[in-house]
Amino acid sequence: MSDHDPNCIFCKIIAGQIPSRKVHEDEDLYAFHDINPWAPVHFLIVPKRHIASMAHVTAADERVMGRIMTLAPRLALEQGCNPYPNGGFRIVCNTGAEGGQEVHHLHVHVMGGPRPWARG
Ligand code: AMP
Ligand code: ZN
Repeated sequence: MSDHDPNCIFCKIIAGQIPSRKVHEDEDLYAFHDINPWAPVHFLIVPKRHIASMAHVTAADERVMGRIMTLAPRLALEQGCNPYPNGGFRIVCNTGAEGGQEVHHLHVHVMGGPRPWARG
């Protein structure tokens, strides 16, 4: 699998070819605000390398998947989620058509903030 899919909207966002509201960037990961938020805080964390979905991860992705999961709580607080246990956040990773995935570049939704939310 190539690192970059020229037809992928999230690869274009990572490359700066499509604008985004960046939350975080490092050598492995890019995070940005969802354009259609469900919650007061709603951002996406994606691996920079194009991985189509959670159905495509292999042992070679363990490190980057672990990094997503340890980055999420830190960014959630930085972006305004309230602290656990009264606050917290929701992590969602839609996978495949029946899993509700619309963009086929692996992404983790991080949602939080006071309820009610627009959805979810
Ligand atoms: P999913 O249904 O899990 O594939 O979610 C895709 C998410 O990407 C949706 O919540 C969209 O609002 C979001 N999205 C699509 N295009 C953009 C974009 N250009 N910038 C930010 N978020 C986007
Ligand atoms: Zn991609």
